[in-house]
Amino acid sequence: MTHDRPIPNVLTIAGSDPSGGAGIQADLKTFSALGAYGTSAVTALTAQNTRGVRGVHPVPVEFIRLQLDTLLDDVEIDAVKIGMVASREVAEAIRDTLQARRPRWIVLDPVMVAKSGDVLVDDVGIAAVREVLVPLADLITPNLPEAAVLLGDAEPRTRDEMVAMAPRLAALRAGATLLKGGHLGGESCPDLLISHGASQWIEGTRIGTSNLHGTGCSLSSAITARLALGDTLPQAVTTAKQWLEVALTESRRLDVGRGHGPVHH
Ligand code: PLP
Repeated sequence: MTHDRPIPNVLTIAGSDPSGGAGIQADLKTFSALGAYGTSAVTALTAQNTRGVRGVHPVPVEFIRLQLDTLLDDVEIDAVKIGMVASREVAEAIRDTLQARRPRWIVLDPVMVAKSGDVLVDDVGIAAVREVLVPLADLITPNLPEAAVLLGDAEPRTRDEMVAMAPRLAALRAGATLLKGGHLGGESCPDLLISHGASQWIEGTRIGTSNLHGTGCSLSSAITARLALGDTLPQAVTTAKQWLEVALTESRRLDVGRGHGPVHH
């Protein structure tokens, strides 16, 4: 085993989930699992467990800026993952900071609702994310309901409808889009990677578990870590999906809460 490969620094800008399944906590565990050094800036505290969200306490925008500037004045960041962003002023603060520092990779997970169904970001926040942060991202990772909301469109029900959505997603001006097909149901979990006018399927196997809390956060963080480690985009997505399948299989051994259980990181 060689120990001389440098370990990249990765940053998550996201909300906190005390139950440890999603948000900042999931992101940091995922970064470690994938071999990156994780740092974080918190956009909001949530009070939640596996059954639901009881409260959301946004961090004041000036303090989000201070977290980012203080960290980035000292630490060279190779890749950034953005999760829960609930207002235009926070979206703009993140955009201004990242435009000034320009990390190699920016991955945006357009977080909207928790697995419990509780709304984390309202329509005004979603519009801000779409207009301010999507064009800055090298990759966005919407699932089918999130893609439908971003486009104000119907949710795709088939692979063909996912392919048909690709040009409209590309028009949102992110560098690339990973349209996650898990909501199609069925045996497989096909994701469509849309990049530079071309689309490719990245196939996956559905893992039978109800422990799905944090799957979106964990996948986008795993991709971010792999990009920081030097993978190409298709390699990063493929490796991250394979890792998530193992994590989901392992989650069957967890006994955390009585609601939507977490992924094992
Ligand atoms: N970010 C935060 C802070 C959350 O609490 C959640 C869900 O509870 C999410 C993001 C989205 O989670 P998931 O990965 O399950 O879509």
